[in-house]
Amino acid sequence: MNCYDCHQAGTPTAAVAVCRTCGAALCPDHLKVSTQEIHRQEGMGLSTSRQPARRLTCPTCHDAEHRF
Ligand SMILES: [Zn+2]
Ligand SMILES: [Zn+2]
Repeated sequence: MNCYDCHQAGTPTAAVAVCRTCGAALCPDHLKVSTQEIHRQEGMGLSTSRQPARRLTCPTCHDAEHRF
């Protein structure tokens, strides 16, 4: 599979990941990596996983999620 954003620009580039939101294939240049804390209800409180989850998105979804 090739990177969708590179494909839009007319360049075929091998993809290394897939956007978790829109499903577009992404090359390392177009990949946005962020972390997400995982919360879990435990008894009366909320516990947070010590290890944050990894979140891979494309630039389009990344911008959409961070521009409110
Ligand atoms: Zn790309
Ligand atoms: Zn996306």
